[in-house]
Amino acid sequence: MKKDNINLVIAGTMALDSVITPFGQIKDGLGGSATYASLAASYFAKPAVVSIVGQDFPVEYFKLLQKHQIDLDGVERNGHTFRWSGSYEYDMSQAKTHQTELNSLEHFQPKLPLSYQQARYVFLANFDPSLQSIVLDQLDHGAFVLLDTMNYWIDTKRTALGEVIARVNMLVINEGEARQLCDSPNLIKAGRMMLDMGPEYVIIKKGEHGALFFSRHAFFSAPSYPLEELRDPTGAGDSFAGGLIGYLAHIGVVSESSIRRGIIYGSAIASCVVEDFSVKYRSSVTMSQIDERYKLFKKMMRY
Ligand code: AMP
Repeated sequence: MKKDNINLVIAGTMALDSVITPFGQIKDGLGGSATYASLAASYFAKPAVVSIVGQDFPVEYFKLLQKHQIDLDGVERNGHTFRWSGSYEYDMSQAKTHQTELNSLEHFQPKLPLSYQQARYVFLANFDPSLQSIVLDQLDHGAFVLLDTMNYWIDTKRTALGEVIARVNMLVINEGEARQLCDSPNLIKAGRMMLDMGPEYVIIKKGEHGALFFSRHAFFSAPSYPLEELRDPTGAGDSFAGGLIGYLAHIGVVSESSIRRGIIYGSAIASCVVEDFSVKYRSSVTMSQIDERYKLFKKMMRY
């Protein structure tokens, strides 16, 4: 059967995560940047994933992704799955990484199926910047490309990261990593500096304090959802970005106002993710619950 062409591609990690927070723990839970992002995007679009897992990746995790209409033709299976373990202290704002086992990711050479190559929307989720570039090389020109990264790659692959930042339309990064990348304590300055690296748009995620959006002509500061139940912050950033790109792919227009709405949808989804471990939220939270949170943001931001 011939498949429809894909409109949204998400490249990143699919992982087995072991996480400890003050509210519990999970071993070998479903995680990874592409996993969180594609599940969030699937509220709006049919994402297709580029990633690699090992023979040890549980079948039920594939089934969960497929249940949400996520295309997995671009997922290779070889060796051992990427594993990440980490923990959070009471303030939950920063993960402490215990171990990163790259495993099959170390020798991964992403190959995009033909049906992915003309996607109009692409999210290069947190992953080795050299691999992010290889994915970009295989895409038709004219796609809208969003990029994420983390301190691990700023520490180990800064040159390759600079090269990929110069090629994308939008960069999303958390506040600590923005300060590290720009060597500046001031986030407004860092936002401007990152625009000078190439992207038209930059978003700095500030966890429980919301997000800052920068373009050459605009600035927007979004709050975060006033949550009382926070059990596991893992995946909030990936889900925020996945929700944003999913919304843009669904609307089919990138403008300042669609990005603002996408930021609020991304924040609403991220607020649901962190209420439980791993990706458990996806089996219970409906689109109308996300819409409820979106409406509350609207109310909160009126003055
Ligand atoms: P975050 O949205 O920043 O909380 O992302 C959490 C996810 O990132 C976890 O599910 C991890 O599996 C994944 N992760 C951790 N370290 C890395 C890394 N170096 N590269 C790509 N993904 C990672």
